[in-house]
Amino acid sequence: MMHWKGFSVNYSGWRRRWFYPLISVVVALSVSLTAPLPGRAIDLLPLLFQGVQVFQLSNISARQEVDLGKQINQQILSSQVRLYDNPEINRYVEQIGQRLVRYSDRPNLPYTFQVVDNNAVNAFATLGGYVYVHTGLLKTADNEAELASVIAHEIGHIGGKHLVNQMRQKAIASGVATAAGLDRNTAVGIGVELALNRPRSRQDEFDADRRGLRTLIRTGYAPSGMVSFMQKLLKGGSGPAFLSTHPATSDRISALKRSINNQSNYGSYGLDGNAYRANIRSLARS
Ligand code: ZN
Repeated sequence: MMHWKGFSVNYSGWRRRWFYPLISVVVALSVSLTAPLPGRAIDLLPLLFQGVQVFQLSNISARQEVDLGKQINQQILSSQVRLYDNPEINRYVEQIGQRLVRYSDRPNLPYTFQVVDNNAVNAFATLGGYVYVHTGLLKTADNEAELASVIAHEIGHIGGKHLVNQMRQKAIASGVATAAGLDRNTAVGIGVELALNRPRSRQDEFDADRRGLRTLIRTGYAPSGMVSFMQKLLKGGSGPAFLSTHPATSDRISALKRSINNQSNYGSYGLDGNAYRANIRSLARS
């Protein structure tokens, strides 16, 4: 176990979890090398560890970021986050996400959109393209533009590398970063903690809104969807989770309205509420 500031990671537990996929990679490698000796897989392990074990969060490559995002994903899915098993809904969210990615700040990153089985009105992103949307949020949105605005906002967090920077700050504050960087276990542990109990900064939220709104507009969605969704959360009180993890909502609404007024020629896609309800039909039934 390693500990810092009230946070602990079950070191051996998670090590086991990512160790198995790694072994299968090694086995696949060995198979492709034709007729490997029995001990070969073990010999390859140290080689695989080199280059991936220490991260410089201040200068992380896209490849390392995706790798960290994947490790964090495996960790949170094996503990606190349960995915929603509904191919139709997953495909729908994935489609909207990929459409937005093309017009985002980091279109070349591989993105993974997942639906979380949770009635809280919430969504979050980690790093390396991993975006999570709760079923509660899908139910609360009234049209596709509103849903797309949240996904675009989360893509904006990845565009701004907000979690990467938070992880770096946390590592420095906790004194776990060395001159060489941060070892992979520690980086994943910090990432998981921040992903689940993320103290979102006001500055990051405004930045994600700015990036998200730009992406939403470029994609052709009605930018009003972003405003109406946030207003709904403020008025209805239906989104305590989203509001608590996304501070300063009324200020954000004002800022959005100002930026929307300053631009012109918007698309109007995604405002058809009936089409949206048809798309999430299987969600409403369950
Ligand atoms: Zn946010």
